[in-house]
Amino acid sequence: MGGMDELISLSRRYGGNPDWLLAGGGNTSWKEGDILHVKASGGSLGSIEAGGFCSMSRKGLGAIWQRTYPEASEAREAAVLADLLAARSPGETRRPSVETLMHGLFPQAYVLHTHPSIVNGLTCGLAGPAAFQRLFSDMAIWVPFVEPGYILSRVVKEAAEAFQARRGAFPQVMLMENHGLLVAADTPAELDRLSDLVVGRISAEVKRRPDLQARAADASAIKAAFDGLSALAAPGQAIHFRSDGEILLRASSPEAFAPLEAAFTPDHIVYAGHEFLRVESPAELAGAWQAYLKRNGNAPRIALVKDLGAFAIAKDGTTARNAMLLFVDAAKVACFAESFGGPRHMTGPMIEFIRTWEAEKYRAQVST
Ligand SMILES: [Zn+2]
Repeated sequence: MGGMDELISLSRRYGGNPDWLLAGGGNTSWKEGDILHVKASGGSLGSIEAGGFCSMSRKGLGAIWQRTYPEASEAREAAVLADLLAARSPGETRRPSVETLMHGLFPQAYVLHTHPSIVNGLTCGLAGPAAFQRLFSDMAIWVPFVEPGYILSRVVKEAAEAFQARRGAFPQVMLMENHGLLVAADTPAELDRLSDLVVGRISAEVKRRPDLQARAADASAIKAAFDGLSALAAPGQAIHFRSDGEILLRASSPEAFAPLEAAFTPDHIVYAGHEFLRVESPAELAGAWQAYLKRNGNAPRIALVKDLGAFAIAKDGTTARNAMLLFVDAAKVACFAESFGGPRHMTGPMIEFIRTWEAEKYRAQVST
């Protein structure tokens, strides 16, 4: 197989496996001489074709590190985006992934960036950094949560260069706080080995696994909640329902819900919204919905009802299904984080940054 075929096959394999990636999350790349083929923004890895990759000049990407950019995030990201677009190969018209600069830093032929919920149990755990030291400091780098895009790439560059100075080789594995995993290697088989090794070491530390067994709930109460939500949501919105042990646990009380009170990762915000709604009964939905609208300026994507389950409300079936997938992922992360010191959410300013970042709006818009 040629390099592009290998890239497509590995992208589909990880993109189509919910243990590794959901919806439009994650990205992959392959280097061919001076060209970096990196996932274009917005598409989904699970069904990607050669046309889903954007061709970049590695020399052009390298030149970005020689420049200085404005401090203010909006002006900076606009300037970096202009330079990224200018670093595309001649004739390229697609928009590269927001994580393109980061892919370009790694010298290995293939880069695979995923968001496995079990890995994020560690990266979203209060004791995550300590667990990383214990389990991975021999082979990997840790990057703290910073603004995605240029700043994240710069932090990765510094951490990778420090690792290289210390150990004589560029790192092949990176754990990203409140975000996910990146592995880099010269063959897809080596990417598989590294990814499995990371998940294996983390699995061995997990004390409780999420209870995803479907549960039956009272049909008339479900119907009451459905009708209530249909009346509250804009006309024509799709509503999906799901109930399992983990969802019922989180819906059971404000205390049990607390680990889901703020976002864990950017993907949770992009697909499921930055805040979930929880009520004690269908009768409380209307009041809680209005209060949510007032507080946030937009309607909730996810509503939990005690003893029933979770409802995803969105403009169409695909968007509602993705919202539910990412909500369930957040519930899994919350569960796994119990083994790593309990949950640590994104900070308020970082949540705000993702909510308003032009690149994430673009991604959310393209992927639906
Ligand atoms: Zn990512």
